[in-house]
Amino acid sequence: MADTKYIFVTGGVVSSLGKGIIAASLGKLLQARGYNVTIQKFDPYINVDPGTLNPYEHGECYVTVDGHEADLDLGHYERFLNIQTTKENNITTGRIYQSVINKERKGDYLGKTVQVVPHITDEIKRNVKQLGVKNKFDFVITEIGGTVGDIESLPFLESVRQLRWELGSKSLVIHLTFVPYIAAAGELKTKPTQHSVKELQSQGIQPDMLVLRTEKELNSEILNKVALFCNVEQDAVMQSIDVPTIYEVPLMMQAQSMDEVVLRKMNMPIGNKPQLKPWIQFLDKRRNATEKVVIKLVGKYAELPDAYKSINESLSQVAIYHDRELEFEAIQSEDITDENVAQLLAGADGIVVAPGFGQRGIEGKFTTITYARTHDIPTFGICLGMQCMVVEYARNVLGLKEANSTEMNSKTPHKVIDIMEGQKHLTNMGASMRLGAYDCLLKKGSIAYNAYGEELIQERHRHRFEFNNEYKEQFEKNGMLCTGVNPDSDLVEVIEVPELKWFVGTQFHPEYNSTVISPNPLFMSFMSAITNQK
Ligand code: GLN
Repeated sequence: MADTKYIFVTGGVVSSLGKGIIAASLGKLLQARGYNVTIQKFDPYINVDPGTLNPYEHGECYVTVDGHEADLDLGHYERFLNIQTTKENNITTGRIYQSVINKERKGDYLGKTVQVVPHITDEIKRNVKQLGVKNKFDFVITEIGGTVGDIESLPFLESVRQLRWELGSKSLVIHLTFVPYIAAAGELKTKPTQHSVKELQSQGIQPDMLVLRTEKELNSEILNKVALFCNVEQDAVMQSIDVPTIYEVPLMMQAQSMDEVVLRKMNMPIGNKPQLKPWIQFLDKRRNATEKVVIKLVGKYAELPDAYKSINESLSQVAIYHDRELEFEAIQSEDITDENVAQLLAGADGIVVAPGFGQRGIEGKFTTITYARTHDIPTFGICLGMQCMVVEYARNVLGLKEANSTEMNSKTPHKVIDIMEGQKHLTNMGASMRLGAYDCLLKKGSIAYNAYGEELIQERHRHRFEFNNEYKEQFEKNGMLCTGVNPDSDLVEVIEVPELKWFVGTQFHPEYNSTVISPNPLFMSFMSAITNQK
């Protein structure tokens, strides 16, 4: 076994406390000390991956370079650590059971009764250790989804208990809880934290560190009281108070020496405190940005802040690099009509037409695009957004009034967007789209080429439909150019209308590939076009 250290992050009291952000912040701090770190997420639900989950259930579906449809926390891990994650970084109960059942069918268990303990727990443990050993990481941080006390989380916590026992000081458990403020009493309450730690202890796990999420500053008396009641050292109890941006969290945890406590507890050299210079510069820029940039996104999950997480984060990163504060507004595409489009889009410096699936809200996207194109507002269409740009152009510029994507109307006489050949006969919905990173060859002189500064790029995908090359010539003659193409399959990846200020659509999802330290070039180009114009 490589000498990998394993850190587990569990959560208690309530969900949505930001375990992913705490895991990512600790990862960032350890990485800044020169360690090779990755972060893994276990999700306790039975879906094999979140690819089949509706955004109402699960927010955005993130996609890794190797084509895994993943939990959106992996996006945070990549944005904080500037690393790429893979299929091995996100594992669900469904995947664990699928693997165990496949082994059982093959006869691998040699006639034994297959049980949650040890077979499911062994499979979970194998998935934790394999990530560290195969890649020789110094640290694997594993976030256990859900809340302690959930029935579904039990096998994961039992695996953590066993791993703690097997790995000794090579492992560590951080428990994140909530300290509510009771306004009527004017008091912060630690009892839920105490109960949550007891619950964890009843499952055989003594946390080494506690992070208390709070809206109000916790004084040392409260922190020490929690330490005493929960058998945790005083300096290993810290707070995570609400901050203006998640990117402040690493600094807040560094100020409480989170990384030093972890290293000391794991008998690792501590060394000098890292300066985190580029990170701090980024935050300074954010703080000093006074001018606003308004981006309106048109999509069918406008009311769900998590549905377009990566797009929102990418936009906010590039706004900051342009010394602007992002004002992001998501507009429900279904609500957009010819009559109200001008009013709904008023004040937008730029427009994003969102990715998505299915018919709902599609006409509102076409209306948006017509308005944006005829008023020359910088517009970025992503995946379905790019396909809508193509359909709108076919209808209103090429004069193919009934043009459509066959996803929306299979009988359209002008299938300008059509199902990919390889997708036609698929019956299984899970993990069957064109997924993950593929090559794209950019045309010299195009907006995309100028943005990336190179001809051959890779970006991630998640789609079943494609630009129909039979119409390519007709589009290009009429001013919509195909400036990015996959060199192997000839699939169109980027379209642009050079006559306009910035009117670009991508079949790929550049938002999955934008981090604080390396913001995505195409998003940067979009923001440059907007801010230069201002
Ligand atoms: N529904 C479209 C397709 O499958 C676009 C998918 C997307 O926007 N991710 O091709």
